[in-house]
Amino acid sequence: MSARSLTALATLSVRQGHEILVRARGAGAAAALDAIRALAADNWGDADGEDSGSAQAPAAPDDRPGAGPPGGALQGLPVSPGVAVGPARKLREPEPEVPDAPSAGAAVEWRRLEDARAAVAAGAGEEQAEIFDAHALLLDDAGLLDPARTAIQAGQNAAQAWDAAVRAAAGVYRAADDEYLRERAADVLDVGRRVLVHLAGGDAGPSALDGPGVLVAEDLTPGQTAALDRTLVRGIATARGSATSHAAILARGLGIPAVVGLGPTVLDAADGTPVVLDGDAGTVLIDPHPDALAAAEARRAEQERSARERRARAAAPAATRDGRRIEVAANIGDVVEAAAAVELGAEGVGLLRTEFLYLGRDDAPTEDEQYEALSAVAAALGGRPLVIRTLDVGADKPLPFVAQADEANPFLGRRGIRLALAFPELLRDQLRAILRVASEHHGVKVMFPMVAALGELRAARAVLDAERAALGLDPPLEVGVMVEVPAVAIAAERFAREVDFFSIGTNDLAQYALAAERGNEHVAELAAGPVPALLAFVGSVAEGAHAHGRWVGVCGELAGDPASAVLLAGLGVDELSMAPPRIPDVKAALRTVDAADAARVAREALAADDAHAAKQLAGGLLGGPSARIAPS
Ligand code: PEP
Ligand code: MG
Repeated sequence: MSARSLTALATLSVRQGHEILVRARGAGAAAALDAIRALAADNWGDADGEDSGSAQAPAAPDDRPGAGPPGGALQGLPVSPGVAVGPARKLREPEPEVPDAPSAGAAVEWRRLEDARAAVAAGAGEEQAEIFDAHALLLDDAGLLDPARTAIQAGQNAAQAWDAAVRAAAGVYRAADDEYLRERAADVLDVGRRVLVHLAGGDAGPSALDGPGVLVAEDLTPGQTAALDRTLVRGIATARGSATSHAAILARGLGIPAVVGLGPTVLDAADGTPVVLDGDAGTVLIDPHPDALAAAEARRAEQERSARERRARAAAPAATRDGRRIEVAANIGDVVEAAAAVELGAEGVGLLRTEFLYLGRDDAPTEDEQYEALSAVAAALGGRPLVIRTLDVGADKPLPFVAQADEANPFLGRRGIRLALAFPELLRDQLRAILRVASEHHGVKVMFPMVAALGELRAARAVLDAERAALGLDPPLEVGVMVEVPAVAIAAERFAREVDFFSIGTNDLAQYALAAERGNEHVAELAAGPVPALLAFVGSVAEGAHAHGRWVGVCGELAGDPASAVLLAGLGVDELSMAPPRIPDVKAALRTVDAADAARVAREALAADDAHAAKQLAGGLLGGPSARIAPS
């Protein structure tokens, strides 16, 4: 077999214990043999005693999530509580069309194939390298390229030739007598599909699930998240990600148990394999013993029953035992979520993420489209407060219709209000729609994301005032800023002179305060939960705001964790906004504490060693099972 073809080597059916002969020729022959000898001496890269047989899933390195604890469970980061039981479901990527256009000539078609392969290799990105390694080898596999070249020379177009070569290779894998190799057919088809998507012009439409179950994915992009059939997803398990990654936010928004950052091993679960996911402990069991499956199912049913009870009590407003009111609101992205939030006890919407109106589209929504969408949300809330956040794109949420230069550090680049001010026509249309909605509904407020400087706030306000004048509309409209940048948290008193309210985005504030990129599982732990330094920023904002009679909300994921919510209330926060399914638990927690106790514990938490210790302090106040909520 040629060593240049992964497919050829893999289907050689070499097993552990077989003797193999390696022969080399050509200029680099001696070096190649030396390298292979060294590899053999190193047990082919496996640790001593490790079974290098192909039926074993590759072990994750120990310094990352996914290094399995005893009992065969994979350990990740718990990001949305609850137990889920069901078959593993992978996202099925749509099959791109194979064009049947006549060949433009062998040279042109070959060049097209080369370009598509190069584009797929470049798109893999360094972060995915571990998962993508085998895929990269397949892209250069002589076992695929040689038959494709022959077919192109015989007159086929690049897509036809590539598609046929991929299917033939996948067939060879499927026929292997080893289960692990048979499963690799999916990898060949996946690589083949990615190249075909490029050959077909770059877009194959949204991915889908084949049936109800536990969604197993590397990570979820905002686009995949938006296109998911939510009724099919019982739980979410991802190889990558953190508590504030999109998969996590989606899961909490839907009340779906989720564990992220499990490492690449979780992706080895074949479609349909039974899975038990524990969103409190952060564990995932793949193909567990029937007893474990039955026990998990019983726990799930019990959780559902107690959640129903808490929901029944969620409608009443939240107040501490001694009567301090704290508004509990919802984070939502559309009108469907607005109605569901009210049912779960939301007293309003503290964060409407309007970028969901923009994502997954090739063009910007018009002012009228935005007006319709926002009016529907306001109507569903029936006069309850509605905080509309202006367009927050850039960084991990790029827009197809806004040309953005590549940035070395997108999270430190042109995102949020920076992008909106750079493309003022987008902001202008949105603010006009908001002004129109505010003149027809009570309780509408607007806030600007990612503000870092007073100048940005003033520039955004100037656009608002200009549109107010142009429309001849002057509705009551509170104007606020999100506190996501430490500079604003520190200078809150100064900002408070020019805003009506603050809403603290702890997801981004933690990322910038701890210098720990959100979504990166390797540093997720640093910025997870009620980190004392983050609490100090919250305290600073509350103090600065209250000095000028302004109110302060928290709309980051921290607000939806009951123990952290008690700490935030203790620091003086007036409103907590969260994924709707978190509302009943947070209201229940607030009702069990006295305001003075919450304030005392919050002061102690500021001096705690870390988030874990801070959370334990609040947990002590809560006692009982509500203290056992996953960290956010
Ligand atoms: C935040 O940063 O905390 C926030 C609520 O905004 P997003 O998660 O949409 O960035
Ligand atoms: Mg943010």
